[in-house]
Amino acid sequence: MARIALIFGISGQDGSYLARHLLDRGYTVHGTSRDCEIASFRNLTILGIRDRVNVHSATLHDFRSIVQVIRAVKPDEIYNLSAQSAVGLSFEQPVETIDSILNGTLNILEAVRFLGVDSRFYHASSSESFGNTLDEPASETTAFRPCSPYGVAKSAAHWMVANYRQAYGLYACSGILFNHESPLRPARFVTRKIVRGAIAVAQGRLKTLELGNLAVARDWGWAPEYVDAMWRMLQQDEPDDFVIATGRMHPLEDFVRLAFAHFGLDWREHVVQGATHRRPMDIHCSVGNPARAEARLGWKAETLMPDLVGRLVEAELALPQP
Ligand code: NAP
Repeated sequence: MARIALIFGISGQDGSYLARHLLDRGYTVHGTSRDCEIASFRNLTILGIRDRVNVHSATLHDFRSIVQVIRAVKPDEIYNLSAQSAVGLSFEQPVETIDSILNGTLNILEAVRFLGVDSRFYHASSSESFGNTLDEPASETTAFRPCSPYGVAKSAAHWMVANYRQAYGLYACSGILFNHESPLRPARFVTRKIVRGAIAVAQGRLKTLELGNLAVARDWGWAPEYVDAMWRMLQQDEPDDFVIATGRMHPLEDFVRLAFAHFGLDWREHVVQGATHRRPMDIHCSVGNPARAEARLGWKAETLMPDLVGRLVEAELALPQP
């Protein structure tokens, strides 16, 4: 019998790559979107799997819709990827961010308990919970010091998952994922914006690209590899939480330099740093320690900077340009 997976938030970057990953392993894949009638499922179409997944309308705000879809699908594994996932937007929509992340996760945990199903549960925690990683790369035992409503929401949801695991014996895990990128990332995210900007400048469609603070440093990985870590977490005998990261940190300026250098351009002649993209508060440096994931899951990031930037540029060029 094929195993059954249910992905909340299947239309997003990670949901689409995870769906492909699970289909490749013989799973029957179901996924939710807040409104299937209007969702384009563009990412599933780009990956060529739109016809191979079963989609359902469900919103994490609505306990009944979660119960209905779990009851109908009877999943062996549930992945919660649905969220307002933009850190910058969380300053403008803090209530929606808390609601979609914290209350949404709680609604799934309660639905699993209420139905008494023994589905394994994966939750998308985030490196944003750590805030600045000051002295050393963040591990599973590093304290949370979030710097945004998004980070606060992810921190609270993370502890809610741990609490349900301990209090009720649920098989529930959180992957604390550091930034991971792909051509499926929406253009509002800075990495996609840089890649698209560099291409537009190289093709003569744009003179100057305006960006925010280029001194911030991040740990960037390749999204298709990170969904494999999610799946591996749910194959362990015992549920646990894992940091998923490359373990390397680079300033955003390096990302910009590499994207423009791909076209033989000097970024300093084409980029201006403006105040408009600055957040009320931002993380300056963020890097993770993936040692536990490597030891226990056998998972290790393969795609590192600068290869990551080259892959993103090539993938973007393969898409129809505006
Ligand atoms: P994404 O592309 O933004 O996908 C998330 C999906 O959640 C959306 O496609 C949307 O699907 C749904 N959603 C539910 N409530 C929403 C709301 N209020 N506003 C906007 N969308 C909402 O995110 P992702 O990059 O795949 O990330 C997957 C999960 O991992 C998220 O929980 C994210 O916070 C977390 N995460 C991501 C990263 C990263 O670097 N990508 C790092 C750490 C953690 P419908 O519109 O179809 O409902």
